[in-house]
Amino acid sequence: MNCIVCGNPLLFDRVVFHCSCGVFVHAYCWDKHVLQAHQPYFEIGSVNLDGEFRARESKVEEQVSMAQVSEEQVTPLLE
Ligand SMILES: [Zn+2]
Ligand SMILES: [Zn+2]
Repeated sequence: MNCIVCGNPLLFDRVVFHCSCGVFVHAYCWDKHVLQAHQPYFEIGSVNLDGEFRARESKVEEQVSMAQVSEEQVTPLLE
């Protein structure tokens, strides 16, 4: 049986995470699996001096970081 994230065999003496989606991953691959496969909702923003979180964007689309990067690369070419 192999890890769904890195593809390496799951070893009997190592901790294995069994995700609710049915896959098995190494403990150290868990964060990657959750981010890649489940993409939990999050907001991008900052904390002000009062310690309050202010969202920069109210809605985070799927793979927003990748979209922003490609947009920044494309824009200068159009000018
Ligand atoms: Zn792995
Ligand atoms: Zn999963």
